[in-house]
Amino acid sequence: MSTPTPSSSNVMEQIVSLCKRRGFVYQASEIYGGLRGFWDYGPLGVLLKNNIRDWWWRNMVECPPIGPDGSIVDMVGLDSSIIQHPKTWDASGHTATFADPMRKCVKCGHILRADHYWDILATQSKWFAELMTATENGAKTDVDTLARWVKNKARKSAPNLAAVAQPTITPPETADVKAIVHALADNNEPCILCGGALGSPEQFNLMMVSYAGLQQTKENLVYLRPETAQGIFLNYRNVLDTTRVKVPFGVAQVGKSFRNEVTPRNFIFRSREFEQMEMEFFCPPEDALKWYDFWKHERMKWWLSLGIKPENLIFRDHAQDELSHYSKATVDIEYKYPFTAPEFGELEGIAHRGAFDLTQHQSHSGAKLDYFDQDLQLRLKAEGVADDEVKKRSRYTPNVIEPASGLTRAVLVLLCEAYSVEPRAGVEKFEFFKFKPKFAPIKAGIFPLVNKDGMPEVAEKLYMDLRQSFACEYDPKPAIGKRYARMDEIGAPFCVTVDGESLKDQTVTIRDRDSMSQQRVAIDKVKSFINEKLDE
Ligand code: ATP
Repeated sequence: MSTPTPSSSNVMEQIVSLCKRRGFVYQASEIYGGLRGFWDYGPLGVLLKNNIRDWWWRNMVECPPIGPDGSIVDMVGLDSSIIQHPKTWDASGHTATFADPMRKCVKCGHILRADHYWDILATQSKWFAELMTATENGAKTDVDTLARWVKNKARKSAPNLAAVAQPTITPPETADVKAIVHALADNNEPCILCGGALGSPEQFNLMMVSYAGLQQTKENLVYLRPETAQGIFLNYRNVLDTTRVKVPFGVAQVGKSFRNEVTPRNFIFRSREFEQMEMEFFCPPEDALKWYDFWKHERMKWWLSLGIKPENLIFRDHAQDELSHYSKATVDIEYKYPFTAPEFGELEGIAHRGAFDLTQHQSHSGAKLDYFDQDLQLRLKAEGVADDEVKKRSRYTPNVIEPASGLTRAVLVLLCEAYSVEPRAGVEKFEFFKFKPKFAPIKAGIFPLVNKDGMPEVAEKLYMDLRQSFACEYDPKPAIGKRYARMDEIGAPFCVTVDGESLKDQTVTIRDRDSMSQQRVAIDKVKSFINEKLDE
């Protein structure tokens, strides 16, 4: 990742502030000063999140895509417990290896994630922001400028930086941002808070613990799940035994996950409590690559269906040395977030997990998790395959293809994608959200032009009818312009106004958020007009 400059976080600050102002996302426990890595979804945020979640459920569980050979894809849903038997996490490898590298400042004790150092420095460090301002974003890196900064600002904001303690700076020959920071820190990556030296990287397990039982003993120790996937593997046998599905089939679930992230950051991108949308697709080992390819492309299509611009999404194949030891292939779908631009950051991972998960749970639990594939047996026999070979191939441990995405990260993507700034409502830089109508938290605002002359009665009646079908708001306050502006700000695609004409000819105006154009529509056609747009 290239080193982002502090200016790339400005858009993010504006989005965070608009989200707060309009009730999308609040800092958790705000009245107590907040809790790092935790967020509350406000009245509009929860609607947006539910809209994304419902669309995922609809497209994965209720109406999954048609399979690679035109076949029907079997898919069921699940809602497993957040807390499972602790042995689950031994089998999955989480207790031993679910860790990130962290480094601790020897001076102030601040801890940060080692492998994201430059990114964290660019977005969270006060002294780095000052250094960037002083050097005009790294363009001015002569000795005088650097020395001036060290003598003045840095003495206060980064007192432990090597260059502040011993002010003899030798500027690097080719001075990019990284080289300058290293030079000022005596060839170190300095603490983002005080500029002190960071200790060596240490592994830090990310699972959050709790106790199930009356005593806080080792025996009662449990983990809050760091992913929803394991609950699916634990129920693989139950699903096979109690439903009509046969391999290949998928089990999908949406729910909360918890990770004690070393450095939660970038708003809701990396938080300690978040929601995931995961699906485990169990298939015969010999078809696994075919299904991997299928889900990879289907998932990209799904993200595009949210109205995300194609140029803002990419596939990133994991390099061989990046793959988990059991994974045969993994690809991420990445989005161009304001804080990663011009580069991309993870949104969803699609992994070919082989037979790792079921094999592990089988050996740790003793439960039989292999599968006898009668259809495959019949097919192989019909193809004249030798008996031994048929026997060998038709009993197997299913392989798993896993598309795993973040629901709360999807909320962030839609907020970033929809965030727009245009001159309107008498404001030069009017900020608002241009959500695709299907995902907009509120679909329409219903207004009487004036709060008298029979208009409120008609508008209220229309509102009561429309809200049976989709989320809308009734607003009788004066000043139509202000009401339009408020609806634009929260991303409502339509405003329906009842005026004097409405009482005579039973029509209303519908104003479009994006074009700001208005058209007259019969009152009894408003619902179908909006519904049609929601289906697009
Ligand atoms: P990252 O590399 O960003 O830490 P990951 O590869 O560990 O993510 P997975 O375990 O594959 O993530 O989880 C699947 C999805 O869950 C991710 O693509 C992301 O959308 C979401 N996710 C993971 N960790 C977090 C988090 N701390 N906060 C919000 N969403 C998360």
